[in-house]
Amino acid sequence: MQQTRSEQLFAEAQQYIPGGVNSPVRSFRAVGGTPPFLARGQGSRVWDVDGNEYIDYLGSWGPLVLGHAHPTVVEALRRAAEGGSSFGAPVENEVELARLVCNAFPSVDMVRLVNSGTEACMSAIRLARAFTGRDKIIKFAGCYHGHADGLLVRAGSGAMTHGIPTSAGVPESYATETLVANFNDLASVEACFESFPSAIAGIIVEPVAGNMGVVPPAEGFLEGLREITSRDGALLIFDEVITGFRVGPQGAQGLFGITPDITAMGKIIGGGLPVGAYGGRREIMERVAPLGDMYQAGTLSGNPLAVSAGVATLTELQSPGVYERIGGLAQRLTDGLAQVFQRAEVPGTINRVGSMFTGFMNSGPVNKLEQVEASDAVLYGRYFHEMLERGVYIAPSQFEAGFVSTAHTEADIDETIARAEEALTRLR
Ligand SMILES: *Cc1c(COP(=O)(O)O)cnc(C)c1O
Repeated sequence: MQQTRSEQLFAEAQQYIPGGVNSPVRSFRAVGGTPPFLARGQGSRVWDVDGNEYIDYLGSWGPLVLGHAHPTVVEALRRAAEGGSSFGAPVENEVELARLVCNAFPSVDMVRLVNSGTEACMSAIRLARAFTGRDKIIKFAGCYHGHADGLLVRAGSGAMTHGIPTSAGVPESYATETLVANFNDLASVEACFESFPSAIAGIIVEPVAGNMGVVPPAEGFLEGLREITSRDGALLIFDEVITGFRVGPQGAQGLFGITPDITAMGKIIGGGLPVGAYGGRREIMERVAPLGDMYQAGTLSGNPLAVSAGVATLTELQSPGVYERIGGLAQRLTDGLAQVFQRAEVPGTINRVGSMFTGFMNSGPVNKLEQVEASDAVLYGRYFHEMLERGVYIAPSQFEAGFVSTAHTEADIDETIARAEEALTRLR
């Protein structure tokens, strides 16, 4: 059989790039097969180099809340590029992006822009340590906060899929500063504080877990984290890299009414370009250099292209009814999927918060990591390929989130449900 262009490119890529990809989850290891090389995206659709069209629910893993090549974002980028792509000196749109973030998030008085979610979380941890003068941090098994050394401990999706919960190359001495608790289990958090009273700088948490697949916080869980950290003098860090400007205009903290001390962001705030940010109360952020003694810097931070795409995206998101619309479309999708799973008699549990969702191959409920891990990842792999063949691009791993954008239409959703029904009947 003749090779497709994607197969040719993937073979070539593997000669020059480890695994042929620049981020492990793109390799399709979890589902098998060759990843299509994508050539173009427009609205809710992407096209691969062989001309196949897909309805896209990956959305670049979360950033593309407006869909692909949104005209406002494209125009902002064109204008920024024509004016020079980087200066290493302050530009106006940095202030505008920072203002948009601070105005949206009441817990964020000041924000520092960086280049990725990884950097945002890494810096947030450093800041929590600087502010409290303590070393230990707590993270939750199955939550992912980027690939900084101390955070690659039981780190969800990519790491989970690839069976490297703790990466090689992370010094054990360093990893021991990271305590691992269980998501939606406050007793496991209390136990950490009992073992290390007044030694924990902070808790970092995805307020809606997205990197083990979507798992919403249990009733009282986030409130409990707020209470425990406040009592002990530790900081509460919300990793809103996915949820910020995704689950609502004030992220998960607005949705659930919890005020963290520090918030990490990324993905959507860069509108598809590399951006991250961390922010919080003024007294905490004043510890960041050059005001304070916590050093953190970046040659391309606040890059004119990236901040322009971010400003355009956050401005678009202010149109009335945006979150209701994407949440409603996602609900139409997950309701429809739940029905076709049931009709096909394939065990499925579909979790959704706003416009982010995961269909677990699992009769459910799925509220904890053990329940996530009980999902049938092999069956998911078959489902994934049946969907891909039918022109629907979902996450190439059971342990990831899917995303609906403002570019999706009811017709897209209904077409997706119909294709899912066909795909599911092939699994029996
Ligand atoms: C994607 C992600 C990160 C890392 O962001 P990068 O831009 O990939 O470095 C951190 N935290 C969460 C919750 C994420 O989903």
